Amino acid sequence: MKFKAPVTKNETYDVTIMDLTYQGMGVAKIDNFPIFVANSLPGEEITMKVTKVAKTYAFGRVQTWKSKSPDRVEIKDKQYTQTGITPLQHLAYPAQLEFKQHQIQELFYKAHLDEVEVSPTVGMEKPYGYRNKAQIPVRSVNGQLTTGFYRRNSHDLVPIEDFYIQDPEIDKAILVVRDILRQYHTAPYNETNHTGVIKTIMVRRGHFTHEMMIVLITRAKKIPMNFEIVEEIRKQLPEVKSIIQNVNAAQTNVLLGKEEKILWGSNVIHDELLGLRFAISADSFYQVNPVQTDKLYDLAIQKAGLTGKETVIDAYCGIGTISLAMAKHAKKVYGVEIVDKAIQDAKINAKLNDIRNVRFTVGKAEEKMADWQHDGLKPDVIVVDPPRKGLAPEFITAAAEMAPKRVVYVSCNPATLVRDVQTFMDNGYHVAQPVIPLDQFPQTPHVESVTVLEHK
Ligand code: SAH
Repeated sequence: MKFKAPVTKNETYDVTIMDLTYQGMGVAKIDNFPIFVANSLPGEEITMKVTKVAKTYAFGRVQTWKSKSPDRVEIKDKQYTQTGITPLQHLAYPAQLEFKQHQIQELFYKAHLDEVEVSPTVGMEKPYGYRNKAQIPVRSVNGQLTTGFYRRNSHDLVPIEDFYIQDPEIDKAILVVRDILRQYHTAPYNETNHTGVIKTIMVRRGHFTHEMMIVLITRAKKIPMNFEIVEEIRKQLPEVKSIIQNVNAAQTNVLLGKEEKILWGSNVIHDELLGLRFAISADSFYQVNPVQTDKLYDLAIQKAGLTGKETVIDAYCGIGTISLAMAKHAKKVYGVEIVDKAIQDAKINAKLNDIRNVRFTVGKAEEKMADWQHDGLKPDVIVVDPPRKGLAPEFITAAAEMAPKRVVYVSCNPATLVRDVQTFMDNGYHVAQPVIPLDQFPQTPHVESVTVLEHK
C-alpha cells in the first residue's frame, strides 16, 4: 500500500509546536507525522503553510501566530532568518542555555543513564559579537560587488553588513575591504559561469592582541591593481598585520586552495588563550569564540585535577591549545592529531611559549593510542576533544586498558558523547560529576560540554 502523508504541500494547518530540534526548528505533529517549522517555539499555536512534503516528515512556514512563547524575543533582522546565521535568535538567551542543557539531559535519559546529571549551561555575558573569524562570500548583487551570506539551502547572496555574532571590528573590516574592491573594480566571483576574481573575504582578529589578518580568496591567479588594494587596506585598517591571497580556482565548496601568496606583512597573526601565545595562519584551526574557549579549557584543566606530577594524553589536540595549557600543570603531555599542518603549528606554539614537556605526534588518535599502550605508556589523565563523530570504539578500549584515573571528555556533539560514555561505562568507568555544558556558539544550536569519567 502506498503511504500517504497526512499533509499536502501549499495547504495551511493550525498546529501547536511540541518540541525544538537540534537544528533549532520547531516541531508540530499531525497524525504523528512531524512537520518542521523555522522560527517557531514550543508551546506556540500557529497557522502554518506546508512548503515541502517528504516520506517521513514535512517542512512548514509560519503564517500567523495565535499565541507566542514567553521565551520569544523579537528578531533583530529578517536577513538572519533567511540565511540561518543565527537559527536560535528568536529564543531568549536564558532559554537557549536551558535548551542546550536539556538537550544533553534528554539524550542521557533516552540511553537509560538517568543517573548522569547535567549542570546549567555556562553562558556568555554578551552572547553576540563573539566570533574571531569570518568567511564572507563576495558576489554581484544588482551589478555591484556585494558581501553578505547565502540564503538558507542555496547559494544566493543576501547582502549583510552587521553579522551580529562576529566581532564588530571584523564586520567593519569587511565593509572597508568591500569598498576598496569596489573602488578598484575588482570582479566578484560568478558561481554559475565560474568567472570573476574574488570569491571570499576571510578575516581573523586576535581577541586579546587585536592583530588582524585579511585573506582574499580568489579564482584568478592575479588580482588587478593588487598593490593599490593592499596599500589602501593597510591605510584604512591599521590593525592589519597580514594580507594574504589564497588562490582557489576549483569549483568547490572547499574554501581555501593550496596556493597562498603573502601580499603584505606576516603569514600569521597571534592571539592569547589562558596566558599562552598562539600563532595562527590562514588555514589553522583555531577556536572561534575566544571568551568561552578560555572558560572551556580552564574547566578542562580544573577537571583533570592536575598537580604537576601527571602524565597526560591530549587526543585530537589540533594546534595544541589544551596540551600547552595543561603542560604547565603536568609532568608530561602527549598530543596526537590527524592533520599534519596543525601539528606543525602545535610545535611552533610550544617553542613560542618555551614549553618543553610536550610531545606532539601526527596520526589517528585510535591508532596512536594502541601504539602507546603497546609501548607501556601509563597516562594519569586522558583528555579528548574529538570532532562531531566522536570516538572510535578502538580508542575507548585502548584508553580503558591504559587505566588512567580520569578521562576528561570535551564534546561538541551530545549524541556521540552519550554513546561514548556508555562504552566507557562498559569498560569500568563512571561519570564522576555533573556534565557541564558550555555555550561556545550563542544564537546557534551547537552544544559543547565537558564530562569527567573516573575509574570505578
Ligand atoms: N583540541 C583542539 C582541536 C579540537 S577539534 C582545539 O580545541 O583547538 C578536533 C580535532 O580532531 C581536529 O583538529 C581534527 O583534525 C582532529 N581529528 C579528527 N579525526 C581525528 C583522528 N581520527 N585522530 C586524531 N585527530 C583527529
